[in-house]
Amino acid sequence: RAKQQGGNRIKFYSTDMNEQALYRIELEGYLRKALEKNEFFLLYQPLVDLKTGTIFGSEALIRWNHPKLGLISPAEFIPLAEETGLIHEIGRWVLLTACKQTKKWQEMGLGPLVISVNVSATQFQQPGFLDDVKMALTESRLEPSYLNLELTESLMLRNLHYSIQLMKELRELGVHVSIDDFGTGYSSLSYLKNLPINALKIDRSFIQNLHENESDIAIVKAIITMGHGLQLKVVAEGVETEQQIRLLKELKCHYAQGYIIYNPMSAEEFERSIFRFNNISF
Ligand code: C2E
Ligand code: MG
Ligand code: MG
Ligand code: MG
Repeated sequence: RAKQQGGNRIKFYSTDMNEQALYRIELEGYLRKALEKNEFFLLYQPLVDLKTGTIFGSEALIRWNHPKLGLISPAEFIPLAEETGLIHEIGRWVLLTACKQTKKWQEMGLGPLVISVNVSATQFQQPGFLDDVKMALTESRLEPSYLNLELTESLMLRNLHYSIQLMKELRELGVHVSIDDFGTGYSSLSYLKNLPINALKIDRSFIQNLHENESDIAIVKAIITMGHGLQLKVVAEGVETEQQIRLLKELKCHYAQGYIIYNPMSAEEFERSIFRFNNISF
């Protein structure tokens, strides 16, 4: 099979590389059909208010369950979806599904829940993106201020002027915007003051060793202080220990998310959890 692809160049490839290339092609074929075959689903990971311990919303995290390959991580298929352009359709599906679910929860009386949706680079910069957001809001009847889009720094820096323009339009709609994985991009901090954003989400890598690493404490402290100064909410992701929670509370971080608090869960589990755990304090 490799021969058909590579002709006489075959000797330069290791079997491993051929297998990888074939796997990718196979995966791409499956990915094209995944939406119509209903193979995607969303998990919801609660975000809690560190002051009160209450769940104020969740982040939608996509999963792909392929009948033959099993569960495939977004880290693996989102880059492929971006390269193939399939991310537009997938992204639309995520937006609509997440907004509808959250509206349903609100109508069930679970509270004024916010939904955070991850948006990848090509998805955000595609001309129809704003319309996709409007469509998801109209169809779900979710009030725009309950939708929070998570964008990464690298994404915005790709085309800063265009990104800022788009974020302004999103803000006019009433939609909120957060910077995801904050601290990992090549950030010159000067652009931050011009960004119409609502929150910074501190990358997990700074949280991981927070309880034992002085540099991480210094960095997290600085980000939180800066967030407060810029009137931004600050969220810590990847919180895994009680000590980390304690430290984050001390540093006056607003919100937290991580395995020690709640795992990503199905919509049904989320409904049960919010009844069981809301209003507990740490
Ligand atoms: P992210 O947006 O930074 O999401 C956080 C990731 O950390 C999630 O991985 C989540 O399951 C995981 N996580 C949560 N709490 C903890 C913790 O305490 N410790 C550790 N080690 N990990 C934790 P996941 O679900 O595999 O998603 C990976 C990435 O894939 C996301 O990173 C996001 O960039 C992307 N992604 C996920 N869903 C979507 C989607 O619907 N659309 C797009 N464009 N990207 C998505
Ligand atoms: Mg995220
Ligand atoms: Mg993140
Ligand atoms: Mg991250």
